[in-house]
Amino acid sequence: MAVRQAIFRPSCADKWANCPFYAYKLYQAAKEPHSRLQTDLNPAAGKAAEIGTAKHEAVAQWLISRGRDSGRLSFFTPAERRCIQLAFERYIAPHITANQFYVELSLPRVKTPQRRAVSRYVDLGGTMDFIGFAGGELLLLDWKFGKVSVSPVMNEQLSCYLELAAESIPAGRTMSSVKLVIVQPNAGNGEERIKESGLYWPAERYKHAIRAAKKAYKAGEPPAACEGAHCAFCPLKNAGICPLSIFAGLAEMTA
Ligand code: SF4
Repeated sequence: MAVRQAIFRPSCADKWANCPFYAYKLYQAAKEPHSRLQTDLNPAAGKAAEIGTAKHEAVAQWLISRGRDSGRLSFFTPAERRCIQLAFERYIAPHITANQFYVELSLPRVKTPQRRAVSRYVDLGGTMDFIGFAGGELLLLDWKFGKVSVSPVMNEQLSCYLELAAESIPAGRTMSSVKLVIVQPNAGNGEERIKESGLYWPAERYKHAIRAAKKAYKAGEPPAACEGAHCAFCPLKNAGICPLSIFAGLAEMTA
């Protein structure tokens, strides 16, 4: 079953949820697909990103075997394997054993632990690494293979996945608890490699950000940019489109 591509992806939710200008540009790029903006927002993936994608695929294949086909993990270093297997035993195995994940949340006929979903209410959508729902507990687990430590606490990406997953829970079933987990085998500086958080779910804020971007685009009025920690790795800054980075550059030149 084809799943339509969403405009607002969880992977960059920290930006579009916190910077109205970024949300506007995302929507503009979708509406003007032949503009340069598409390339500016989606620069070519580097080697590290390609390796990360291959690692995600390897873990997904391993999960399809329900953790039995260890050959799927031969791609990883021994330390990475230990971390992945520990996370599997601690979080994923109980969900797979309960067999709830496949029955309730997989797309029909797609036996994959990954689930692409698009919100019924707004243009929000993406692919979750692992989603489980058993005994009222919703588990969302994200593998990260980079070294820069990422926390699951108040994490916008996981929170967007939560919104998508919650829409998938069948009527009549109650979600009584939530676990948001990041597994990061290569986290540096002695950081915890398996990190867990509870509920963070500002769904209305996301819906408001998306609707505001659409409204601004229709009115032809780009909203202001909003600076913060979310600016790290922003492609609009690198492309010289962010008005704040333009002003900063001008200020430097005239100083
Ligand atoms: S760099 Fe600019 S456009 Fe990007 S998130 Fe920050 S303020 Fe917004």
